[in-house]
Amino acid sequence: MATQATRPPTPIDNLPKAELHLHLEGAILPHTAVELAARHDVSLTPEDVAARYAYSDFRGFLETFKWVTSFLRGPEDYALITRNLAEELVKQNVVYAEITVSAGVMLRRTQNVEANFQAIREVAQSVPFSRLRTAWIFDATRQFGHDQAMEVARLAAKLQPSGVVAFGMGGDELAFPTVNFRPAFDYARQMGLHTVCHAGEIGGPESVREAIELLGAERIGHGIAVMRDEALANSLSTRRVVLENCLTSNLCTGALAKQTGNPAATLKDHPLPYFLKLGVPVTLSTDDPGLFHTDLLAEYSHAAALGLSKEQLVQLAEQSFLAAFVSPEDKRQMLVDFRAAVKSAGLV
Ligand SMILES: [Zn+2]
Repeated sequence: MATQATRPPTPIDNLPKAELHLHLEGAILPHTAVELAARHDVSLTPEDVAARYAYSDFRGFLETFKWVTSFLRGPEDYALITRNLAEELVKQNVVYAEITVSAGVMLRRTQNVEANFQAIREVAQSVPFSRLRTAWIFDATRQFGHDQAMEVARLAAKLQPSGVVAFGMGGDELAFPTVNFRPAFDYARQMGLHTVCHAGEIGGPESVREAIELLGAERIGHGIAVMRDEALANSLSTRRVVLENCLTSNLCTGALAKQTGNPAATLKDHPLPYFLKLGVPVTLSTDDPGLFHTDLLAEYSHAAALGLSKEQLVQLAEQSFLAAFVSPEDKRQMLVDFRAAVKSAGLV
């Protein structure tokens, strides 16, 4: 897998960037996993972690996520991983990040979600990261059911004044009928939150339709199943529903192999260029950069390797600002800054 050190540079590298689909817990790098485990008297070697971080399908990925998050036991652990992630984002010139926090996992482990979140927020707002603006998405875990999803939505609503901007759902896309989660999404919206949902990652196009029509999701996590349904792609284009594409993630979890029906699928088979051709709004993200050995610069490099022009790469980067959950005034300012940077880099 290309890493920051080996990937070819792109014109996007030095531009200010936004990242919208990024899981805090999925950013745990192997050496941090060793450090977290040691805090809780579990001795791990880098080889142990490497073995755990090697999986070939989506179930294996979920198991790894469950395993690595088992070392997140209190606010100080969440503070550590937030610091590490914020350092990475600043290095990559990310100026705005909507970071997903798996509140569902915290509840499952009977942790104090509010205390964890306070620690996360304090780190993200500290002086070293003053150039990075952060907003938060509280994520329910689908396989934990609709009651827990409602509890996550309630916490998200309560913590809006602390920077939670959206309620979302991830986990096992094939668990439980989508309609079960409608009350939680309706509640979140009534409380003034935005809504997002993972769909069409390992599920089919109907999963994306349901996330939009039953849950009212404004942005779809992945949505690569839309490659199999041109009418749906055209409808997303017309309705301006955003697909948050994460290239390396889809390869690592086997989602791309599943959606293309080709077990040997490579990044070259990713539908990102097809979506752009049909005018579907797409953003580019890392999803779980620690678990997938990637970063945002590498993702842009992969997008360039798919044949995207310089203009398309700039358009892709701009879309992340356009789809951000910020006030219209803040969005306007972010876009002004982004376009000024594009201009001064000679990209227009
Ligand atoms: Zn995700």
